[in-house]
Amino acid sequence: MSGKTTMEKLVSLAKRRGFIYPGSEFYGGLAGFWDYGPMGVELKRNIENLWWKMFVQSVPNIYGLDAAIIMNQKVWQASGHAEGFSDLMVECKECKKRYRADHIKSDRCLECGGDLGEASLFNMMFETRVGAKQDEDSKTYLRPETAQGIFVNFKNVLDSYSPKMPFGIAQIGKAFRNEISPRDFVFRSREFTQMEIEYFVEEKNWEKEFDNWLLFMREWNEALGLKNVKEIDTPRDNLAHYSKKTIDFEYEFPFGRSELYGLAYRTDYDLKKHMEESGEDLRYRPHEGEPFLPHVIEPTFGLDRTILALLNEHYNENGERGVWLALPYKLAPVKAAVFPLLRNKEELVSKAREIYSSLRKEIPGVAWDDNGNVGKRYRRQDEVGTPFCVTIDFDTLEGEENSKDTVTVRNRDTMKQERVAIDDLVDYLKEKIGI
Ligand SMILES: [Zn+2]
Repeated sequence: MSGKTTMEKLVSLAKRRGFIYPGSEFYGGLAGFWDYGPMGVELKRNIENLWWKMFVQSVPNIYGLDAAIIMNQKVWQASGHAEGFSDLMVECKECKKRYRADHIKSDRCLECGGDLGEASLFNMMFETRVGAKQDEDSKTYLRPETAQGIFVNFKNVLDSYSPKMPFGIAQIGKAFRNEISPRDFVFRSREFTQMEIEYFVEEKNWEKEFDNWLLFMREWNEALGLKNVKEIDTPRDNLAHYSKKTIDFEYEFPFGRSELYGLAYRTDYDLKKHMEESGEDLRYRPHEGEPFLPHVIEPTFGLDRTILALLNEHYNENGERGVWLALPYKLAPVKAAVFPLLRNKEELVSKAREIYSSLRKEIPGVAWDDNGNVGKRYRRQDEVGTPFCVTIDFDTLEGEENSKDTVTVRNRDTMKQERVAIDDLVDYLKEKIGI
């Protein structure tokens, strides 16, 4: 439950149980880069799948896309990133440490007390070179946002599908920003995953479509069980240059309330710029009336921030029970864990193995655990948010008529145990998990 935990606890749980490891760790790490471990990658994929199902597969007029991370440098000139994607930075004259000007209040270095020079602009895109030549033409960047990959494919989707307005293009993918001061675990990192939709509308309908997306995004927060989300309507004079209206969804993280998601009305800014720079006609041609440039509503979701918010929101702890993550069942990395009551009784182990392999065929995310006693196994599964633990005991093998061929199923949230017939187990779990 949020408000009850600290970043230290979340970072430690993430490391200990294989959700998130520091990147390049035994070489001293690399600030702003994180690696997702066995639990983290499952959680991440479950979030992506839920998002894709909710916003792409269940919506008839949304098209999926997976664009290349590296694009022609002209894309970034047109989008304004090559010129303007900069933060004001100050550098310590002594130790050369850099700070974002808006993150530091003093004019002295926090590390060594040295003098901080004048603020200067620093472009946050990672530069790279494509091909063997090292000239200006070979230069480009790792994308700092996924949105431009969508805009440069707008015409392809139009040509392939002739969609009716309004329609959207959705993408999940990595983006990279050379943050001056990465911080707060995966909240502000230099490599991250975005889940984004560019939704193309007629200008006169933008407010109505904006409001629809606001409702849709609230549904997503509900599906994730995130309660501490505040919607902040950004005042006009603070808006990004391309936007006429933005609502930030801010979440109460242990380090303070910060942006989780955003919903922006980007006008026709991006398509117009790409049309000017590329010379390609990007106008939409309706059956009746004049061709026009669509306007854009952009719902954007940070995946790594979602993971941090989920860990925080669903983290619970008490002295007796230890830590349990009350993740929504669908998102839990492990859905069910199977235990033989005792690891040294061959008949229990082989029956449990049999149940384990039949569950694995039907349910994604089934684990095996025969270490320590059942209480310890519950604790281990609780820590990673496993909703169901299935124990095979002596009653399973040779119980009375109504307990033979049944197993004990223990629920993470109620801690109640039920006897379930082996024959009904798959259906029972599928129904409870909602798959
Ligand atoms: Zn310094």
